[in-house]
Amino acid sequence: MHFHIITLFPESFDSYLNESILARAIKEKKIKVSFYNPRDFVTGKYKKVWPDGNVSKIVDDRPYGGGPGMIIRAEPVLKAVEKALKKIGEKKYKIINFVPSGTKFTTEYAKKAVKKYTDIIMLSGRYEGIDARVEKILKAEPLSIGDYVLTGGELPAMVLIDSMSRQIPGVLGKFESLEEERVSSAEFYTRPEVLEWKGKKHKVPKILLSGDHKKIEEWKKGK
Ligand code: SAM
Repeated sequence: MHFHIITLFPESFDSYLNESILARAIKEKKIKVSFYNPRDFVTGKYKKVWPDGNVSKIVDDRPYGGGPGMIIRAEPVLKAVEKALKKIGEKKYKIINFVPSGTKFTTEYAKKAVKKYTDIIMLSGRYEGIDARVEKILKAEPLSIGDYVLTGGELPAMVLIDSMSRQIPGVLGKFESLEEERVSSAEFYTRPEVLEWKGKKHKVPKILLSGDHKKIEEWKKGK
């Protein structure tokens, strides 16, 4: 799976993608992540060269109809997506636009997407969001990772990369894949059997020490 991320802040992905399972998946070429910064596609009056040689590349502008906050302009985003589409060529792809009010992302969604597509383009918004024409022109799916508003679409993109990668054969180690398929519970315990904390003793539930695997599985289902 090749993830193509349209973002103003590509560096914000570095530490997460360079750790653990995702770093291994990238190294073993199970997944690939490419970044396209709309700022690199700014032209015309939005690109200003200052007398000291510094260059400002302005990606946003004021909203039509008024209101607070700035909107990311359509053109640099569309150009960035075009670059990604050139790389994708004839392969099966999907374009996702992150918005807090979009379709809710789930593990089921991740499973289906991984089976259906080889490439996923994700539009990570900032400020008030991206000009609404981009979603329409690209026929992008509006997607939300939850009922809360974040500062930008970078965390949602990382959430999707993580969750979808887990569904790609070989990304999780053998043990982790087995755990994923097993009856799981929301309560986990490890050593010591009795934890002493601020004068109190906290014990592991007896059932987990019983050795009766059938009963343990039933207990887990109930948690
Ligand atoms: N004014 C927008 C609204 O109320 O819908 C909020 C914009 S938010 C500050 C900036 C960007 O963060 C959005 O364009 C989107 O890409 C991303 N974002 C914020 N919360 C999100 C969520 N729950 N799911 C997906 N993306 C989110």
